[in-house]
Amino acid sequence: MTTFVWTVDDAGMGGSTMVEAVRRFCRFLETRELRVTWFVVPKPKSEPLLDEWKGVLQEARDAGHDLQLHGLTHEDCFEFGPPAWPATTIRPQYLDEFAQHRDELMQRYTVEHLQARIEEGIAIFERELGVHPTVFRAPCGAISKPMFEALRRAGIAYHTCQYISGSGYEHLPHNSGLIRQQWTEAIPHRPYRWYAGIIEVPILNEYTWRGVGARSGEFIALAQQDVERIVQASPVAVILMHTHGIADDYNHAFRLVDAVVEHVARLSGHGFATFGELVRAGRLDSAATVAGPDTLAL
Ligand SMILES: [Zn+2]
Repeated sequence: MTTFVWTVDDAGMGGSTMVEAVRRFCRFLETRELRVTWFVVPKPKSEPLLDEWKGVLQEARDAGHDLQLHGLTHEDCFEFGPPAWPATTIRPQYLDEFAQHRDELMQRYTVEHLQARIEEGIAIFERELGVHPTVFRAPCGAISKPMFEALRRAGIAYHTCQYISGSGYEHLPHNSGLIRQQWTEAIPHRPYRWYAGIIEVPILNEYTWRGVGARSGEFIALAQQDVERIVQASPVAVILMHTHGIADDYNHAFRLVDAVVEHVARLSGHGFATFGELVRAGRLDSAATVAGPDTLAL
């Protein structure tokens, strides 16, 4: 049996249009008896969370949605490590930008510095949202070995940013344009024990990035193929979305959710939960039966 988790990144960042995306997506999922895990930036671009953000996030929490930690400031794409795939296929310039500022950026990646950032984020969650986060997702998938030790020391045991498939970005103008199933073999396709004993819960794919609405049918077909394959491979499957991707085309986002829900029901025996629910039930620990590869250079 596979449990699917809807995750949406970048809550807390942006103005009223993004706040509205959170509210509309919550209400929509509630009509399907579903709940979402929001990855929230607690100190967006180094500014305090706006009151309208606090309001919508508290409202989501009270309706049973899950709030987890997405970095501290998300000020650039190198907060917890150097640029990584597939963010580099969304925006190849990350590689040059990192190379230009390498000496300065490398100083960020000490256990002490990263632990302080994580703990500041946890304190903001507790104070402003009344929530103690248990799962972390580094912005832009940019990670480092010191980040995992920092998470352990801060008491966070679960991380989720490694992709099984990045084919949801192939529609972008500088990519292949081919929307087809393409999975990496570089990581296990199920939760695994990784650096510092942290459990990494891999992301299946993203089907709602900006611009995919123009090829909605193809992305829905891709999602259905990925769903069919992941139920053979893992007891947990994480689907990634972004606030700005949802707001880019609400119709596509809602169609995608309904298509995945129908497909999961057709395969029978599978279901949906939030990250918080899986953590509390011990389901991520029991799912992590394999060890991850030593792939990080830093
Ligand atoms: Zn993000």
